[in-house]
Amino acid sequence: MLRLIERKRNGESIAPDEWQALMTAYVAGRVVDYQMAALLMAAFLNGLDRREASALTDAMLASGASFGATSTGARRVDKHSTGGVGDKVSLVLAPLVSAVGIAVPMMSGRGLGHTGGTLDKLESVPGFRTDLSLVRAREQLDRIGCVLIGQTPEIAPADRKLYALRDATATVESIPLIAASIMSKKLAEDLHGLVLDIKRGSGAFLPDLPRGLELAELMVALGAEHGLPVVALMTAMDRPLGRACGNALEVEEAIHALTGDGPDDLVELTLALGVEMVLLAHPTTTRAEARALLTGALASGAAARKFQDVIEAQGGNPSVVDDPSVLPQAAECELFVAPRAGIVTRVEPHRIGRGVVELGGGRTRVDDPIDHSVGYIIGVRPGDRVEAGEPLATIFARDEPGVTAGRAALRAAIIVGEEADAVLPLISHRVTAAGVVSWGTELAGMVTQRGGGVGNR
Ligand code: URA
Repeated sequence: MLRLIERKRNGESIAPDEWQALMTAYVAGRVVDYQMAALLMAAFLNGLDRREASALTDAMLASGASFGATSTGARRVDKHSTGGVGDKVSLVLAPLVSAVGIAVPMMSGRGLGHTGGTLDKLESVPGFRTDLSLVRAREQLDRIGCVLIGQTPEIAPADRKLYALRDATATVESIPLIAASIMSKKLAEDLHGLVLDIKRGSGAFLPDLPRGLELAELMVALGAEHGLPVVALMTAMDRPLGRACGNALEVEEAIHALTGDGPDDLVELTLALGVEMVLLAHPTTTRAEARALLTGALASGAAARKFQDVIEAQGGNPSVVDDPSVLPQAAECELFVAPRAGIVTRVEPHRIGRGVVELGGGRTRVDDPIDHSVGYIIGVRPGDRVEAGEPLATIFARDEPGVTAGRAALRAAIIVGEEADAVLPLISHRVTAAGVVSWGTELAGMVTQRGGGVGNR
């Protein structure tokens, strides 16, 4: 171990069989955390070359079990997002894509820092269990065609242990370590295709486009090496996605999107990612056909029914889809109004995400409990003109101090000024094994523009 740390510290590389032996020994408890932490920091500072990133992915994948092939013959596709504020796409996309006959084994994470996590959102549905065993997840995937779970103990245990150590040693934000971590879990799903939603902008994990593209290209390359086609879309996180930010509020907004009344950016991004998933599952389908399939499943109610089936199968109360008031309700609810007339120049996602944590809706430590009911509905977007005293947002808090904290967060996050700032395009680039292309009018034109509000909260 000492030799490996020295070599990585000196900028040399570690061979594939050494990564393999190292992960085996680490999972077996034969490597102490302080030495692994030193190796991770050396890898963080000096990087991993492509061969090392690939070897680490293989070693973490091989440390555990896989989903295995389906018994139904359905094509299997998943999506991974690097995370953002108000990003409830998975809740809409997984049942939607499954409703058109594609199996979706969506394995998600929890919120940490300023970004929310799909598992926390799902657990705001009373009774919903995300901790299924691999055996149960496989059975549900074959029976219903969709399962929404966390990383099971059987999947990539080396990554599970390593990720927790990275979190405690400031070594998360390394492109090769992130790519290997995500791809080891996604490869364990035995997919026919994977779609990545790589966020950019101030609320993203990697705010700068070049770093985001580097991550996308590495994950696309790792997929190709393993025979897994991967498509990445670079998408905006310089403002929250949709209007709801906070667990139960986001579930409610996702239900509105599934029942035809979602905010346009959420619906547009979900459809764009969904089209890519359908094309990966069925490469002979055209973009227009893929889109028509998905919009048909929204309009017919098939996507909403699929969400209901998944909720029921995982112990949740399926009536939430018809009646979102069964979700936890915040004790306090207060409007936040514009301090002056002008143009909304910014809705800062990082500040809103931190504001959800301050209300009790996110965690600062892995084992912090969560209040699912709290959060914000943001009623304005950058570029909107507002009058003094006009409502900009609603604060959902558990008590009066929460309302005060929420007001302070929104005052810092929603800036009313004279001129609109430029905003990032919702989707800016598409990355595949063939290279990076701008999300031009030809591709963007295939994505519907929809109206619709945020629902009645
Ligand atoms: N998500 C993961 O699963 N792994 C990382 O390293 C970062 C984000």
